[in-house]
Amino acid sequence: MRLLASLTAAAACSAAFAQTPTLPQQTSPLLARLGLQRCGTQVLDQGQWNFAPPGDCGNSTNPTAAYEPNQVLEIPVVFHILRSSSGQGNVTDANVNEQIDVLNEDFRAIAGTNGQPGYDTMIQFKLATVDPGGNATNGINRYNNTTWYNDGGNYFNSIAWDPNNYLNIYTNQASGALGYVPFLPHQGSVGSNADRVVALWSAVGKNAPIGPPYNQGRTVTHEVGHYLGMYHTFQSGCGSSACYSTGDRICDTNPEANPFFGCGNNSSCGSPDPTTNYMDYSDDLCMNRFTQEQARRMRCTLQWWRPQLAEVAGGGFSTTYCTSNLNSLGQMAQLTVTGSPVVSDNDLNFSVANLPTSVFGYLLMSQAQGNVPFFGGSSGVLCLGAPFIRFSGNVLNSGANGEIDFSPDVNSLPQGASFATGSTWNFQYWYRDVVLFPTSNTSDALEITFQ
Ligand SMILES: [Zn+2]
Repeated sequence: MRLLASLTAAAACSAAFAQTPTLPQQTSPLLARLGLQRCGTQVLDQGQWNFAPPGDCGNSTNPTAAYEPNQVLEIPVVFHILRSSSGQGNVTDANVNEQIDVLNEDFRAIAGTNGQPGYDTMIQFKLATVDPGGNATNGINRYNNTTWYNDGGNYFNSIAWDPNNYLNIYTNQASGALGYVPFLPHQGSVGSNADRVVALWSAVGKNAPIGPPYNQGRTVTHEVGHYLGMYHTFQSGCGSSACYSTGDRICDTNPEANPFFGCGNNSSCGSPDPTTNYMDYSDDLCMNRFTQEQARRMRCTLQWWRPQLAEVAGGGFSTTYCTSNLNSLGQMAQLTVTGSPVVSDNDLNFSVANLPTSVFGYLLMSQAQGNVPFFGGSSGVLCLGAPFIRFSGNVLNSGANGEIDFSPDVNSLPQGASFATGSTWNFQYWYRDVVLFPTSNTSDALEITFQ
């Protein structure tokens, strides 16, 4: 009941909110023992709320390719740790930093992490480095207030950082749930003080104090999914075939009759349930993906509902923006660059590490970014968009050390290319992998904005 009271207060704009939303099944034997709900987010179903356009990611989804991830968007995050007056409910800096890592592993589908099987949304997160007053910050605030610790007192009206510009995450008792958001972006007051993610303090980070199976940080991944416009995969049960306008409004997640608890497979609507999706209720270590259409809906949400929130990552010199697959060494080839982005300095040196020995490859460049499996995923990830240019000209060889060093003359680029002041170029290394032969692989990719 406390949950409903706080949510109603949060949704200041709405008579429609008086309609009773459907709270999904919350119980599993484990959660019952813990005395917790899985997720306290209450989602109004179709027809109960209907804002004007942008409808591409409101009550329905338009999965147009215009929303395909093509550049990295970075969201600044502020954590508000709400402890009791006696200090209960502290979240350590280490757990906060781990939580940011989990978000990035999951939303970026980083190779070698639990999130690897997912689709790279090209949305990433960082702790805020500047507060609303323009002062340096570590993005973590702590308060001792028992009312706030109990999720009461409308703390957000006192301490929120402008929700148009920051993702505000509060940790406390979360009204008896693992976490919740007060509304989906098209169902509430984006930018109001109440606009936030709330997480149970003990479920934040990796190896969080709550213990298995909810201790690997995926409560926050799930709730940030809501915050970016995602419904539960089981919204409206098996629903209808109109999958962009009913259910979870996503067609590449199969319909699902009920929340799934635990790990494994299930089939509740005649097809495999999306039990590994972050928007189901599975155990933390058994959730490992957003889908391509979920990624598009979230990017649509950032464009239309949260236009001031994210920044385009990578302005300036040498930012890694795209990761690739592990190679036959079990490592991802890493591209780094030293020198200056000032073209007239002409002192760039590109290095590729973690390569198999004595394999050949090319350093490629393009002004367009991409993020698609190369040859169906057997050959890494293509992080460049067309057209791309063979930057290194000749074939390079990783030699006995499994490394590449390449120092280009930036005044004499292939195919008539030039690094104009203010232009951004993207770089990636393609190489043979002898063990995987005849397939190939790619390094991660970085971008440079030239001066
Ligand atoms: Zn939820």
